Amino acid sequence: MARYTGPVCRLCRAEQKKLMLKGGRCRSDKCPINKKRPAPGKDPKARPGKRSDYGIQLREKQKLKRIYGMQEKQFSLFFERALYMNGITGENLFVLLERRLDNVVYRLRFAVSRSQARQIVLHGHVAVNGKRVNVPSYLVRPEDTIEIGESGKGLVVIKDALKEYHKSGLMPWLSLDPDTMKGKFLSAPRRSDITDLTDIKEQMIVELYSK
Ligand code: SF4
Repeated sequence: MARYTGPVCRLCRAEQKKLMLKGGRCRSDKCPINKKRPAPGKDPKARPGKRSDYGIQLREKQKLKRIYGMQEKQFSLFFERALYMNGITGENLFVLLERRLDNVVYRLRFAVSRSQARQIVLHGHVAVNGKRVNVPSYLVRPEDTIEIGESGKGLVVIKDALKEYHKSGLMPWLSLDPDTMKGKFLSAPRRSDITDLTDIKEQMIVELYSK
């Protein structure tokens, strides 16, 4: 599947929001958003124009899609799936996104970013319930165990990434034994549990796809 291969900080600048696409750099002073760099192609002195409803909805969708590192087609398939689930579509969409294996690997602190987690999965270093899975979009279920296989246990990138676990811990729907590099997806999160993405207005995304 085609992937965006351009400069990722440009994506954050386009949204004027930290999408946390680069791991450690995102928390450092080097982040262009911290330096208040304007959106690409915008005159920094220009006054912001008024956005249409469509423009606002589109930006919300782009933000969420870019945070989870997805292309349009796959994102719209996730939305369709969310639409047919019981409950509130926007919340369902978040639950599905959080269940992606690359996201779970990132949330378990095996990687500093979702794109790095994706690489770790693609290279076959991750096992779900003891079986190797190399599909980043694989949907993890409650009670599944996710572990780094023998091939990945010595990798410096994973060991370095795990330092963040000791600093910041985990989201409440996950558990981890950092020594064995084995984690568990305890339950699907509720929307209110996803505290680092509270500013995303998923209802706008629902409205956009309902047009
Ligand atoms: Fe976005 Fe991270 Fe780049 Fe900052 S450093 S602009 S948060 S990808």
